[in-house]
Amino acid sequence: MNGVEALRQEGFGFSSPNHESFPTLTSIRCFHASRETLARRKEDPDRQLSHRELKKQTVKTKGKFSKREKKTDKPPVEAPYVPPRLQRLAKGLAEKTVDVFEGMTLLEFSKRTGESLAVLQSILLNVGETVGSEFDAISIDVAELLAMEIGINVKRQHTTEGSQILPRPPVVTVMGHVDHGKTSLLDALRNTSVAAKEAGGITQHVGAFVVGMPDSGTSITFLDTPGHAAFSEMRARGAAVTDIVVLVVAADDGVMPQTLEAIAHARSANVPIVVAINKCDKPGANPERVKNQLAAEGIELEDIGGNVQVVEVSAMKSTGLDKLEEALLLEAVDMDLKARVEGPAQAYVVEARLDKGRGPLATIIVKAGTLVSGHHVVIGSQWGRLRAIRDMAGKQTDRATPAMPVEIEGLKGLPMAGDDVIVVESEERAKMLSEGRKRKYERDRLLKAEEARVAEAEKKEAESEEGFIRVELPIIVKSDVQGTAQAVADALRTLNSPQVFVNIVHSGVGAVSHSDLERAQACGACIVAFNVKGGGSGNLSAAQASVKVFHHRVIYHLLEDIGKLIVEKAPGVSELEVAGEAEVLSIFKVLGKRRSEEDGVSIAGCKVMDGRVCRSGMMRLLRSGEVLFEGSCASLKREKQDVEQVGKGNECGLVMGEWNDFRVGDVIQCMEAVIRKPKFVSSESGAVRIEC
Ligand code: GDP
Repeated sequence: MNGVEALRQEGFGFSSPNHESFPTLTSIRCFHASRETLARRKEDPDRQLSHRELKKQTVKTKGKFSKREKKTDKPPVEAPYVPPRLQRLAKGLAEKTVDVFEGMTLLEFSKRTGESLAVLQSILLNVGETVGSEFDAISIDVAELLAMEIGINVKRQHTTEGSQILPRPPVVTVMGHVDHGKTSLLDALRNTSVAAKEAGGITQHVGAFVVGMPDSGTSITFLDTPGHAAFSEMRARGAAVTDIVVLVVAADDGVMPQTLEAIAHARSANVPIVVAINKCDKPGANPERVKNQLAAEGIELEDIGGNVQVVEVSAMKSTGLDKLEEALLLEAVDMDLKARVEGPAQAYVVEARLDKGRGPLATIIVKAGTLVSGHHVVIGSQWGRLRAIRDMAGKQTDRATPAMPVEIEGLKGLPMAGDDVIVVESEERAKMLSEGRKRKYERDRLLKAEEARVAEAEKKEAESEEGFIRVELPIIVKSDVQGTAQAVADALRTLNSPQVFVNIVHSGVGAVSHSDLERAQACGACIVAFNVKGGGSGNLSAAQASVKVFHHRVIYHLLEDIGKLIVEKAPGVSELEVAGEAEVLSIFKVLGKRRSEEDGVSIAGCKVMDGRVCRSGMMRLLRSGEVLFEGSCASLKREKQDVEQVGKGNECGLVMGEWNDFRVGDVIQCMEAVIRKPKFVSSESGAVRIEC
């Protein structure tokens, strides 16, 4: 097996599991054309996309392992380009990603990153690594550390050469519209799991579970991701780990907005769909209608000659589940899912939480290799030694193989959902990498913050030109698990509007603590506690600290509450509104005291037909529906008395700025400035937004 084949087997970079779609080296070598020809071809809208472009499109849509280096059309240079120091902080460089692998030489690394050998060697000395010649091999961890120090992202490439590649179980995510039965289906599927039965059912939510098929010895791993639209970020993260999406559609309801959203998620992640038409036990169930609707959405169902499998199920009656499992296994066979089983593990964090007794815990899904108890790991910027590995039933095990969800214990800090897990050889390495990553993340964070600050300043400038100032709503998010905290924060950010800036100042796991209250008080933030217990004493101190704490378990209710708060806080936009209308019934002329005022002043004798006419309002004169004049009101009298306003049905005398040419039948509108607040809008699908 060559190196490229090895990477493909590992699933890096190429989203299509189909071997045929992988370009051979020959096809790359034969690609000769002048720049001009290529440019002409690119401008032709009807031309067929080239193999390489097609691949690029697919690669773009895949998860983080598919990110590719941007190719420039500059010719390759022999000597490494050394950028000036200052440019290292530039935005573009922070986004640069290079591939690193075990055993690459320092020279190779220098060429890939464009950093000089001298700088790299001095970094190695600083971190206490021995520095040999530029032709010496460096470990993948050292390569990553070097990259972190010079501010470059890495993609760790593991070779599968010499290792056994075996079929692995598929990882499945259930998606669909709210109330179509995703949770019920997951519960029903979980109950079919042998391990769950042995454990007497699962009491603890760990973010994933495995259903084993004792007859065939195969299994399926299901991700337990939440089903609300506001959690789309988590779904997107799920899709990056996901091999197959089960699209749940209720047979009595059909295709709904979140069904379409789920289809879009699966499509953009390039993940195949298996449709589960649920609630088929209901009298109003109409699976055929659902199939027609899906076909209309471009889902090529097997029934009509396509390759998307459809299964009719009832989560409530637990019928059709075996067929669904069969369909998923069939899909997995078609996809030829394989992974390296031996060697150091690579995995993803699905969920992380803090346990009082056991410290930080993370549910992870192994992607390749075997995770062994006692190993040192680096997860995101955290590290630890695997003190215990537990399977989904809470049973301690000493190893985890591909597609297996396990809960790991022994981490020094809480990782984030979606972080990758890598195994390193020693505690020193783990500490070194975690510190390097922390430094890099902090630098990236500062860069991003600076970019956001500049963008915000520009926005504010534009807004003040528009006539209103944007106010800030600082929020602290607390949740039971890290993934949910992230998703809640993202959902809250969707409520950002031109008038109110939702600023998530902190998000964390666990109950609302004293320090959260202090932090909230210090920055005038409110606290959002999602799915965490709200203690009586906590509420009391919250009241003392005059901090608003929103406790919720349903994301929609939370968004509704915060939406109302945003509307309350919004400064609103000043707008002119018609406060009343008067009709001119007669005209009086009063001659001016001085001779120069030859024409005198015209007074319109009016009757207020609607609303009220105010002295302070702005007047608009309309004749046959056309606006002839706009100006302030110079005088408003009722029965010779100056008045501030005249209500509907009453008569009055009105003098309007410079306008003297009234005619009977003219309409005078009184305009008043009102502050229009934004509105909180929610749709039936559960989607919410702030409308300004
Ligand atoms: P989710 O919002 O998609 O997770 O939907 P749930 O699993 O919470 O289910 C929504 C409602 O549909 C609940 O009242 C369930 O009892 C009901 N439900 C789910 N599956 C079925 C089914 O197969 N048949 C029937 N009759 N009701 C179901």
